[in-house]
Amino acid sequence: MKRICLFLLLGCALAACSEKPAAPQVIAHRGYWKAEGAAQNSIAALQAAGRIGAYGSEFDVNLTSDGVLVVNHDFTYHGYKIYDTPFEVLRGDTLRLANGELIPTLDEYLEASLQYPQMKLIFELKSEGDPEYEARAVPGSVEAIKKYGVTDRVEFISFSLSACVEFAKLMPGVRVEYLGGELAPAEIKKLGLSGIDYYYEVFDKHPEWIGEAHDLGMVVNVWTVNEEADITRMLDLGVDQVTTNEPELAQRLIAARR
Ligand code: MG
Repeated sequence: MKRICLFLLLGCALAACSEKPAAPQVIAHRGYWKAEGAAQNSIAALQAAGRIGAYGSEFDVNLTSDGVLVVNHDFTYHGYKIYDTPFEVLRGDTLRLANGELIPTLDEYLEASLQYPQMKLIFELKSEGDPEYEARAVPGSVEAIKKYGVTDRVEFISFSLSACVEFAKLMPGVRVEYLGGELAPAEIKKLGLSGIDYYYEVFDKHPEWIGEAHDLGMVVNVWTVNEEADITRMLDLGVDQVTTNEPELAQRLIAARR
């Protein structure tokens, strides 16, 4: 009996240590932007992701020349380089997202996210690795997260390794996943990051990285996987998170496997 209790205790302790979720999680890439009335990185897309019960809404953050964090995928918006342009120009009334919204500030996006407290915020900082830019953008992002009290809901991702490392230092305990795809899990672990978020073809080439990441207690996210066959193959390989433009399809495929 004592031995069984010991095994049970050991099992619970291991489960608590492991980052691996019980079932794969679905992340709406740039929000659920294919939903009616939404557009990529719009508030409406965030809300649509919340309505379908997505695990998380992924979004992209850029810094304007005058220090405002805005939600937009590209480094440019309507032809303006965001980091060279003051906020009020980007917010001009004639500049709109595809659904008619003005470009959201990070503050507005986080404020709107409070309607969906169960949903994670998959925060991608866009950066070309310029240290001066990151010295403003990374602490500014952390400050906003703290201001809205969503620290327990945020997971950072970035193609900038230096930004990832800085997020991990500034917010210990918050998940930080690197997007680049060229580093093995052990190298990511050494840098103090908690996960990898790689393009699906990286895992086709390196399926062993998924098990290696799990063995290191790390989370494995995959982007951006939209076709049924690709989602199924990634689930078969054992990823923990699926970042997709088709969140309802991914939800159905995961539900069907239970
Ligand atoms: Mg992104």
